[in-house]
Amino acid sequence: MARDPKYDILFEPVPIGPVTAPNRFFQVPHCNVLGHGRPRAEAANRAIKAEGGWGVICTQEVEIHPSSEITPTFEGRIWDQRDIPQHRLMTDAVHEYGALAGIELAYNASHVPNLYSRIAPMSPSATVVHGDFPIQARAMTKHDIADVRRWHVEAAKRSRQAGYDIVYVYAGHDMSLLQHFFKKQYNQRSDEYGGSLENRVRLTREILTDVKEAVGDKCAVAFRFATDELLGADGLQWQSEGRDIVGMLAEIPDLWDVNISGWDNDSSTARFEPNEGYQEPYTAFVKTLTSKPVVGVGRFTSADTMVSQIRRGVLDLIGAARPSIADPFLPRKIDEGRIEDIRECIGCNICVAQDMMNAPIRCTQNPTQGEEWKQGWHPERIEAAVSDDAVLVVGAGPAGLECALQLANRGYQVTLAEATHALGGRIGRECELQGMSSYARVRDYREFQLRQKANVDIYLDNELGAEDVLALEIPHVLIATGSRWRNDCVGRQHAFPVAGIETVAPLSPDDVFDGAEVQGRVLIYDDDHYFMGSALAERFRDQGHDVCLLTPESKVAVWTENTLEQDKIQARLLDLGIDIIVSHQLLEVSTGCATITSVYSRKHQSTLEFNTLVMVTSRAPDDDLFQALQAHRERLQTLRAIGDCNAPGTVAAAVYDGHSAARHLQSGQDVYAPLFVRDMPALD
Ligand code: ADP
Ligand code: SF4
Repeated sequence: MARDPKYDILFEPVPIGPVTAPNRFFQVPHCNVLGHGRPRAEAANRAIKAEGGWGVICTQEVEIHPSSEITPTFEGRIWDQRDIPQHRLMTDAVHEYGALAGIELAYNASHVPNLYSRIAPMSPSATVVHGDFPIQARAMTKHDIADVRRWHVEAAKRSRQAGYDIVYVYAGHDMSLLQHFFKKQYNQRSDEYGGSLENRVRLTREILTDVKEAVGDKCAVAFRFATDELLGADGLQWQSEGRDIVGMLAEIPDLWDVNISGWDNDSSTARFEPNEGYQEPYTAFVKTLTSKPVVGVGRFTSADTMVSQIRRGVLDLIGAARPSIADPFLPRKIDEGRIEDIRECIGCNICVAQDMMNAPIRCTQNPTQGEEWKQGWHPERIEAAVSDDAVLVVGAGPAGLECALQLANRGYQVTLAEATHALGGRIGRECELQGMSSYARVRDYREFQLRQKANVDIYLDNELGAEDVLALEIPHVLIATGSRWRNDCVGRQHAFPVAGIETVAPLSPDDVFDGAEVQGRVLIYDDDHYFMGSALAERFRDQGHDVCLLTPESKVAVWTENTLEQDKIQARLLDLGIDIIVSHQLLEVSTGCATITSVYSRKHQSTLEFNTLVMVTSRAPDDDLFQALQAHRERLQTLRAIGDCNAPGTVAAAVYDGHSAARHLQSGQDVYAPLFVRDMPALD
């Protein structure tokens, strides 16, 4: 199909200093924790986006010197000449598809504790190091400032040698030295680098100028700048110093890459920023102050929104990290008139969570993300079926839907049976929660694709038992029947049901979604620590209930620190007037009353009254069908449980498992084999 002419503007080339982006699709720097530890995986990950039509592909943060390194994570590194071949892998791969390659040079200063190099971090003024490391950063001398300038220049020259077209200077996310120079919180210097804004901007101006002089003949120099920190007067604001900085440096960089700080604001989840383009109020002014091209982000997945950003003069280039992760082929799909094939980001930040845990990237919507080199997975291509066999998938949640779709893509004849009247499984429930409607994209994308396929038969309202499955005489059976929340308190803190549980009738989240009556004061016991407990608390509060959330952890929804949501969730619950009790567990329950105790000492006990008790603790696999079929294993060529039925987890894990099962069907490959394809350090 041909591209709709209204999207032509997105495919116009854009000159950026001495280079030209082939179109307006710009993958801004984003972490993937492949980096210098897994260079071939890194190159493959970026190359697939170039193949998918992104005109510019950038690295993640790249350390320029050992005095600022981010162990234990693996991002980029360009300390010296020896790093260049790794970068060449990426730039060559990206250039093969006609895209430009950009490198984000990073000096993190007091954001990093230098756990590998053991060099004391430096900061504009002496300060503590980010996080809870009991070490501090020393104040930079003039000599240090000269060093940092030189290190940027040397790294820029190496970048040019490595084949990069765009070299970034970085001041954002509250993670970089140059941004710290802007902020009085870090910069209390009394020399020409502190005090007035002009002085606090001096080092950035010098470095931008130095880098342009060094490589500007061949490479564009980009400046990544957070215009606002959403901290009000306690931080940088776009209306005042943010604006002034853009004005002062307006024409120096060849490209402005603008966003908001910190990372939790820049990569806000759908739960807290449901709309794409949410950064526009803070960044739209930039184009009025510079003639240079501007790129910005905002979880853009709609081609119409992108066009509107360009036409209204908000941005010149459509920046994307997460939309390019969820669908590396987004530009090509717009170009080919296949808008409905775009796999839209849902704004869940599972990708971010991997980075927070120092683990390679993964994505809820795109199970091939991070697996491009390790398993040779391509987001748009899959191995053809090796037989004419039919396949049965039982259960149409995220695992079953993805499995059925990929089996159909392989060319198998697929039967998908679902017990209820709708596809989607848990998605249909979870997308009802406040701010989570975009999660429905996991279902909707797959349902749409499946319904286009002639080799897929979908049967709703079909709850299959073992005899039903066997009667179909389909040789390959994948069981994706999901899981149910437990309501007996068993979870992380409790290996056994809590005392007195038989005297009350606690509700599980499934009961709540099924419409169980919730009365009066609600006590939620959250031993799950992801989104469900807090999201239900919000829902009950909105319905007018008194709500208390009790958790054995020291914070509400503590795992959501990884998705950058924890602070926001706790603040929202407090603002809603929800009682929060942390570091306590249930000891005993009876009708209307719970005895709780500190998780640290049983000497500290108290009681809580409730009308409704909701347990958000753990889930049990719904694997009766799988277990029943085990007795007839010899009648089936394939019998496998996938997704939550195999092991309850995130939606991302279920989608991945469904995808993996489809890839491996009749592959003859040991499912563990890809894990032994590793980037190994050369022992030279
Ligand atoms: P996952 O996250 O692993 O995909 P879900 O819980 O979201 O799991 O989805 C499981 C789906 O399986 C649900 O839609 C459920 O209705 C369906 N299901 C469960 N048991 C059966 C069965 N015996 N026959 C058909 N469908 C089933
Ligand atoms: Fe989007 Fe979630 Fe994928 Fe990240 S993990 S790119 S937020 S869908």
